[in-house]
Amino acid sequence: MITLATLLLSFAVANAMPRAEAVPGGVAIIDVPATGEVIFQGRRVMTVQKDNRRVAIIGLPLRTTPGDQTLKVGSHELTFHVSEKSYREQRLTIANRRLVNPLPEDLQRIGRDRKEMDAAFLHFDDSQPELSFALPAQGAVSSPFGLRRFLNGQPRNPHSGLDIAAPEGAPIVAPSPGTVVAVGDYFYNGNTVLLDHGQGLVTMYCHMSHADVAVGDRVLRGDKLGAIGSTGRVTGPHLHWSVSLNNARVDPTLFLSGIP
Ligand SMILES: [Zn+2]
Repeated sequence: MITLATLLLSFAVANAMPRAEAVPGGVAIIDVPATGEVIFQGRRVMTVQKDNRRVAIIGLPLRTTPGDQTLKVGSHELTFHVSEKSYREQRLTIANRRLVNPLPEDLQRIGRDRKEMDAAFLHFDDSQPELSFALPAQGAVSSPFGLRRFLNGQPRNPHSGLDIAAPEGAPIVAPSPGTVVAVGDYFYNGNTVLLDHGQGLVTMYCHMSHADVAVGDRVLRGDKLGAIGSTGRVTGPHLHWSVSLNNARVDPTLFLSGIP
């Protein structure tokens, strides 16, 4: 188990950048021309000004094939390299088998949940997000990002977030300023809050005992979103925290280093 003491904690560093790691599930940071919309795999990409340069901050989905990838900037194309990364395997036993093999009547709800979360992940506006995150909960990392998962012996999607184990009722706080764009009770994720930070950077908080915010609320770093719980598909109370960039779920720890 990794303890969070091994991670560099971030503070409110103006214009901080995430840590670049051009691997599946990571973030690529590359210089781009001063003008032109930046597109990766059909999705708009975040750009920021850094030392008089314009840089693109690209989320790389876990399913990205290592090798050369193409970024469109206006009418130009740029190539950048994605390296391999192997993630460990994790085998979990879920007592409620319906949460591993849902019943036909669950599928409609699962589809509805998916649509609501996708709408949040796909939102893009031109506001400038703060890219240095504080930890949303205090506790040990019980499952890192990217694990290749087997539930009750069956292969499932890889772990698309970071799990922080903490006691039921402990606070979950916003890691950086954002707007609450969804509050739901989802089949797999339980009580969930999604925060939009701007330019396609969206974060998600799952398995809460309850949420303390409503859609449309504007929150600052450290504002309480809700409390640790064990709703949805869990083996115990914890926070599942996802960070999404251009609709790619990426390793949340890349945003904790706060490189100025
Ligand atoms: Zn998780």
